[in-house]
Amino acid sequence: MSDVIVIGGGLTGCATAYYLATDGVPVTLVERSDLNTLASGSNAGSLHAQIPHDPFINKGEDWARIFSPTIGLLARSIEMWRELPELLGADLEVSLKGGLLVAPNAEQMRDIERKVAFEREQGLKVDLLDRAALHKLAPYLADHIVGGAFCPDEGKANPFLMAPAFAAAAERAGARILRHTAVKAITREGDGSFAVATNRGVLKAARIVDAAGAETGDIAAMLGIELADVQGFPIQVSATEQVGALVPHLVYFTGEKLTLKQNGAGTILIGGGWPARYARHGNPVADPDSLARNLAVAVQVVPALADIRIVRTWAAIVNGTDDWKPILGEIQGMPGFFVNFFPWMGFTAGPIAARIVASLVQGATPPVDVDLRPFLPKQ
Ligand SMILES: Cc1cc2nc3c(=O)[nH]c(=O)nc-3n(C[C@H](O)[C@H](O)[C@H](O)COP(=O)(O)OP(=O)(O)OC[C@H]3O[C@@H](n4cnc5c(N)ncnc54)[C@H](O)[C@@H]3O)c2cc1C
Repeated sequence: MSDVIVIGGGLTGCATAYYLATDGVPVTLVERSDLNTLASGSNAGSLHAQIPHDPFINKGEDWARIFSPTIGLLARSIEMWRELPELLGADLEVSLKGGLLVAPNAEQMRDIERKVAFEREQGLKVDLLDRAALHKLAPYLADHIVGGAFCPDEGKANPFLMAPAFAAAAERAGARILRHTAVKAITREGDGSFAVATNRGVLKAARIVDAAGAETGDIAAMLGIELADVQGFPIQVSATEQVGALVPHLVYFTGEKLTLKQNGAGTILIGGGWPARYARHGNPVADPDSLARNLAVAVQVVPALADIRIVRTWAAIVNGTDDWKPILGEIQGMPGFFVNFFPWMGFTAGPIAARIVASLVQGATPPVDVDLRPFLPKQ
């Protein structure tokens, strides 16, 4: 019997298994498919630190006040990202050259200023840039952009590399990783431990970490736990051909959904959470309408993109909640059952969320100076 079973072999699960194993806890990770095949290996690789602009506008300042503590988690996670290549012994293509949220007019510049006020209250470093300063820093931007905010800690990393690097390091530290092992049912035994029925037999553990991404709620439901907020949303990203260095920053736009960045190989990744759709077979597929609109916005912000070919568009399901708040910790009515769920930005936050949950599983105080109360599962 393992002390802990981690369910889900995305970044969240692999990183949680790593921290448990390196703390000396016997841990088994079970993954239905191969590792890193869903959101963690299909995302856009942005490392976000700022409050996302879309919900700030659509949900308003009351929402921003509630969301604000999450900024502390994202910032600590990015600090961890800086050290992870050395810690895991792998090049993760981490590049932190800063993120720019840019505006096409004075009114939207004022929205940026309102958002920056919340971010600064949380200790995030953000500089407001007028037109001249912005275009000096980012000459690739279109002329009509009037200003923006620069957050120096943002950046990017390679989603293909991160979860596998954590998994390999976890295995080196003694974690057992079972691929192609799907959890079908979970029952609580008389002694308080858990029996986890899989397609390859029953596994037993004293504690469980539910790190199943968009399916975190389905796993919890096996024990009668309702995580009503947890959902999955199909979204899409596009990649260009490889070109010379053009965009060193992570770029967002106030006008419409956009994230844009160039990876180490020269590919520019264009996304921002544009909706994909579900095909008849049930899998997410790219939506041509979203593709056209996403590319139009991208060209509006970085005109040079008009002459660069798109070579690939893909869709995947992002784990989300309406309020954007993470759910990290033990379910009070079900001692020993822990949830590790970070919505929308779980690539950025994977390391910190895993470190926190791995500590909580051991009954230890997580080694992070962040108030975790806002993120505990609602009881
Ligand atoms: C297109 C896209 C772009 C994104 N861009 C960004 C970005 O730029 N920056 C950012 O920070 N975040 C981004 N995200 C969000 C981020 O990718 C996710 O929040 C994060 O990867 C979630 O990781 P996870 O390990 O929790 O979930 P997942 O990676 O989805 O992993 C969950 C795993 O659980 C397994 N599982 C589920 N049910 C079972 C079961 N019954 N038995 C066994 N295993 C099971 C699944 O097979 C899967 O491998 C994006 C997401 C998408 C889809």
